[in-house]
Formats: sequence, C-alpha cells, structure tokens
Amino acid sequence: MAYSTVVKRHKTRVVSVGDHLVGGDHPISVQSMTTTNTFDVEETIAQIQKLEEAGCEIVRVTVPKKEDVEACRLIRSRIKIPLIADIHYDYRMALACLEATTDAGRPAVDKIRINPGNIGGEERFKEVIRKAKDKGIPMRVGVNSGSLEKDLIEKYGFPCPEALVESALRAIETAEGLGYRDIIVSLKASHVPTAVETYSLFASKCDYPTHVGITEAGSREYGTLKSAAGIGAILLRGIGDTIRVSLLGDPVPEIAAGFDILRACDRRVNRPEVVACPTCGRLDIDLERIVAEVEAKMAHLKNPLRISILGCLVNGFGEAKEADLGIAAGAGKGIIFKKGVPIRHVTEAEMVEALLEEVGRFDEDTPAL
Ligand code: SF4
Repeated sequence: MAYSTVVKRHKTRVVSVGDHLVGGDHPISVQSMTTTNTFDVEETIAQIQKLEEAGCEIVRVTVPKKEDVEACRLIRSRIKIPLIADIHYDYRMALACLEATTDAGRPAVDKIRINPGNIGGEERFKEVIRKAKDKGIPMRVGVNSGSLEKDLIEKYGFPCPEALVESALRAIETAEGLGYRDIIVSLKASHVPTAVETYSLFASKCDYPTHVGITEAGSREYGTLKSAAGIGAILLRGIGDTIRVSLLGDPVPEIAAGFDILRACDRRVNRPEVVACPTCGRLDIDLERIVAEVEAKMAHLKNPLRISILGCLVNGFGEAKEADLGIAAGAGKGIIFKKGVPIRHVTEAEMVEALLEEVGRFDEDTPAL
C-alpha cells in the first residue's frame, strides 16, 4: 500500500561492518548485545545463535579483559553475523581486538565501539584510530549521556544535546584529521526528549550514519514502550541506520521489538502488519480470536503486507479499502477487500483461512465481486 506520508531518510555515507552495509539506502539494521561473560565462549556463542535465529543482524560483546579478546577470535569464527567489540576505559583492549585474527586469518572483530568519554584522552583515542585505519575496521563512536567528557560537562553543566553532539563531532574531527572516516555514531540518553533532540541536532550537522537507541530503557515491558517512543520519534525524522532496543535481561526479545518499531514506523517492513480495531459494543464477531489466529498463522511470512481486520462497518470499509487486504466484518460474516476492491464474501468461520488464502495468492489477479 502506498501512503502519501513518506518519511525522507537522512542521507548518510555507507560504512561496511564485515559484509553488512550500514547507512545510505541500506535497510536499517537491528542489533543487540550479549549479556554473557564474553570469555565464556560457549555461553556467548549459544546466546548469539539465539539472537541470529531471532533475526539479529549485528551483535556486540563486551571486551573488558584479555581473555575476552581471545574469545572474540573463537566466537567470530563460529557465528554468521558481524561481531562488535564494546570497549570502555582500556584502549589497549581496542588495540588488541583490532590486531586479533581468527585461525582462518580474518579479523576477530568487524567493528569496535569506543566511548570517547572514557577511553583515556585524545592520544589514546588517536592510537586506536590509527590501528583501526591500518586494519580497515570501522568504529562506532558511542557517546553516552552518563559518561560524557568532563570538560563538556563543565562547559554545558549537564549532558544536554549540544554537549553530546559536541563530543561526537570532536571525536569525528580527530578521526578525520588522521584520514579515518569509517565511523558510525550513537548519541544515547535515557531521557527520550533529550535523545530525540540530540540525534536531530547531530543529523543536521553531518552525514555519518547513526546507531539509534534509548540507553538503559528499563524492564522488558516499559523498556520496549520507552524505546518505541524514542527510537520511533528519531526514525520518523528520517534518522537512524541501525537500532537497538536495550532491555533488561535476556536480549533475544530486543530483536522482535526492534523489527516491530521499524514496521510500526514504516521504516522497514519485513512481515505483514495486522491492523485491528480495539472492539466495542458494536462488535458481532469474535475479533480477538480471529486476529490472534491470523497473527499466529502469518508469523513466518515475509511479505510486507498491511492487513486490516475490523469488527464492524463503522471504520471497516474505510480501513479495509486502505489496506493491501482487509476484512470488514458484520454479524457473523464479512467482506474481504484486496487493494480497496471487494473480492469475497466470507462467514466468520471461514475468515482466517480465507484471508490466509488471499495472502498466499496476493500477487495473482483477483476479480472483484
Ligand atoms: Fe467498534 Fe466497529 Fe470501531 Fe471495531 S470498528 S471499535 S467494532 S465501531
């Protein structure tokens, strides 16, 4: 379905993370981060494999110690998706990750994430940049409101959008001074209005791709909603080339949440979207059951279809006409619409199977009723 409201994507340069392209017109990626001790190779690989199965496209692991660098070598050779080493405080871990290779001779990590606020000053940061440039490995400059450089806190008094953006631009300037531009930037804050303002300000100043997230979003339920509000607002400004929904606990649900946010914002639709009314006293069919069955039976589908299922004629006809496929239901029966054209009468008992049949033959011509 083509809507007249289209979000124009902020133009960014393309950065290769392993064989995965980020930025430009490439699909907005969904990332996550493991919660295991990275040095526990088997546990970490097991969690990454679950993330891969859920659709995760890039994964990050923490690298606080030498054993974690060695683990990256082993992990990288056994997973499919690009691996990012997350570095804080110790720039030597960044250098070691950049230097390390798997037994097959490929880089142990596909990207490193550096926090310019805690890497130990400009000289150490430069040393990491020189090594990353030498090895041809990209870097995420990951600014975070909780760990901003001291001089910026003194200058602005608070980690405000201007301070976060200045931190990122300063790191970029340092990197560009050394001829290094393989950079993706994140500017995370846990306060949603600050995050939205910060990403907007950054995007107005340069064309580096951004990784978007709301840091420390919280528990699974509230964190998902908070991330949807923040990441959604940023995506709807056309900003964002990769996203992560940061949730407390098991990271696997972060992936479905990330794809749902992309789908709800119409930024990347990789499976059907079901539009359903909330129901009210006018309802004459078991809409909850029908929607649940349709969603469950379409969970494996990859078609980017918009399917509306409404309980009565008040909005049913209008919504069904706007959707790729829609049902406007009445008392125990309904009409299926395809691209706004009524194609089939169905009883309540037939609705789910009939809708699935129409999804299956969506590309064929179907005569109007
Ligand atoms: Fe109620 Fe009909 Fe609206 Fe559904 S579409 S909420 S049944 S009025």
